[in-house]
Amino acid sequence: MTPDTNRQFGFRSRNDSPSGAILASVVDATREAVIVVDPSLRLIAANKPAQEAFSRNDVPLVDRRLSEIFRDASLHEAFALALRSGESSDVRLEMINHQKRTYDIHVATILHNGIRHAIGYFYDKTQIERLERVRQEFLSNISHELRTPLTSIMAFVETLEDGAIDDADNNRRFLNVIRRNAERMHCLISDISELSMIESGNVSIEKIPVRLSHIVDEIFTNLSSKAAERDIALENEVKGETRVFADPTRLEQMLTNLIDNAIKFNVHSGTVLVRTEPREKGAAICVVDTGEGILPEQVGRIFERFYRVDRGRTRDIGGTGLGLAIVKHLAKLHGGNISVQSKLGHGTAFLIELPSP
Ligand code: ADP
Repeated sequence: MTPDTNRQFGFRSRNDSPSGAILASVVDATREAVIVVDPSLRLIAANKPAQEAFSRNDVPLVDRRLSEIFRDASLHEAFALALRSGESSDVRLEMINHQKRTYDIHVATILHNGIRHAIGYFYDKTQIERLERVRQEFLSNISHELRTPLTSIMAFVETLEDGAIDDADNNRRFLNVIRRNAERMHCLISDISELSMIESGNVSIEKIPVRLSHIVDEIFTNLSSKAAERDIALENEVKGETRVFADPTRLEQMLTNLIDNAIKFNVHSGTVLVRTEPREKGAAICVVDTGEGILPEQVGRIFERFYRVDRGRTRDIGGTGLGLAIVKHLAKLHGGNISVQSKLGHGTAFLIELPSP
């Protein structure tokens, strides 16, 4: 503990006792912002996190009035109450500087040199609340995504039960719709569990040198009938000897996702091309299509879970909105990165950069 810390935190003046010094250093080492005000509501102490969070232009907080730092009536009242009657209280504060931050603040009293002072502990809830929002959004997305095919399945089962089962012209068609929706639910559930496995760190990546051209050929073979349905040409421009350093199964999964998208979002008789670009350390694999492209304001969002540019349409062509989120995580697990460039009406290029050892 430095003498400055003691002076800044002010507890030391209580006979300069060793316990006061320990207390000062404990408060200074606390992650939460802590401030102490005297009976005239002027700060006599502020730890480092408080200084970092509430000071503008690094002006010291100590010696300034509480009202100069916080313009919140309920916060003032909490400190005033503590000073007036010794009562502790809890308040919530939202501060908007360059970003919005939310605090739960506990205000209590302490005796300093025999005089009642008020101390405030600021618990920063911003991150926890953001994660909570993400979790809630994720859950509501999942239930929405599952409800849509389920509603359709239930409706068609009812129609069949109500007599359509004997309608030879339509019963197979209805069964087909039920099967497609059940398959959709299956895809969703496997993508969700895949994503949660990756996010929880339960997927290990074993990187080896992989002949990229072979993998691309295999994926093209697997997706050839899908491409043929829309007369899409698949072009593998990766040189035969090119090797990338990756986990072969995960690399295939990433590229399958990108190539599948490049087919799905392509124009009729379009082209999907895979090639590599050298990087200072490693290589970039490019999946380029001649599709409709993505609006600039949407490009930044397509890696978010469940984000789809055109929800209705993408659902019809079998998308879950989770594919790119999975690819992004896998690229990161490889120590790499994924980026996208798109031009509306011209096409899109996804780049996976994979470092070499
Ligand atoms: P999905 O299962 O819907 O394909 P993804 O996470 O793979 O989910 O993709 C998210 C969204 O990004 C897609 O719904 C689509 O709107 C957009 N997208 C992805 N790849 C392309 C592409 N090659 N061309 C145009 N849009 C694309």
